[in-house]
Amino acid sequence: MPELPEVETVRRTLEPLLVGRRVSRVELRRADIVEGDRSASALLEGSTIEAIRRHGKQMALIGSGAGAGRVLIVHLGMTGQLVHHATRPDLSSTNHVHAVWTMETCAATKREPAGVLVFRDPRRFGGLWPLSLDALRDRWSELGPDALEATGEGLRERGGRSARAVKGVLLDQSVVAGVGNIYADEALFRAGIRPTRGARRVRREEWDALALAIGGVMRAALEAGGSTVRDYVGGTGERGQAQLGHAVYGRMGEPCIGCGATLKGGVVAQRTTVWCARCQR
Ligand SMILES: [Zn+2]
Repeated sequence: MPELPEVETVRRTLEPLLVGRRVSRVELRRADIVEGDRSASALLEGSTIEAIRRHGKQMALIGSGAGAGRVLIVHLGMTGQLVHHATRPDLSSTNHVHAVWTMETCAATKREPAGVLVFRDPRRFGGLWPLSLDALRDRWSELGPDALEATGEGLRERGGRSARAVKGVLLDQSVVAGVGNIYADEALFRAGIRPTRGARRVRREEWDALALAIGGVMRAALEAGGSTVRDYVGGTGERGQAQLGHAVYGRMGEPCIGCGATLKGGVVAQRTTVWCARCQR
């Protein structure tokens, strides 16, 4: 399921295709994917996309509106895909397409294809959340710092007194935003910390190592276009390649890339977790 690198990959691919474009039409095919105002204008019909922002795993299309700025959070959930097509694809046989935005043909270059943005989400854990710019700021201020800016001090302050396992703390979006099951396991492996260890027993220098590891695994995954484990694709439909470089995630029972020991697996913080009992203390 999409974590920070996947959402950021979508954001980066869509940004040059959408920013500066006006949405001429929105088709909402399934109303219950929208949390809040379901009107066409709330879904950015008539607005020009001014920016695409991201914090943690959440991405927001920022629209110019008449009056107050309109914002639409597109939450990819587990299986969501937000894909731009240069020309309208045949959607008649495509299941699970819940919303379609048609972009206006550029006035200056009328021959250019207008482009169509398609939101598809088979399992519907994702959704569309229309809100104002102020409400977006409030919502994002409740999240911890973005994982690309994680610091050891910040992790320790927000999560270091928790009675939970350190993995559970990393998954808590109010501690650090953007880390999910894949990159939590990868970062803990890189930092040499066992996921089951109580957060209170993580030392100051280990929080620093963990913050560095989080940044490192996120940047490496971004360079590879994110991880495609199931449905994830980038903003133009391309699959990610980061899954090919996972050190522990999905590798239970296989040899550790560090020491060759067989990787262990178990449930930590209600999530399937893989670690090396020799390399991670
Ligand atoms: Zn090992």
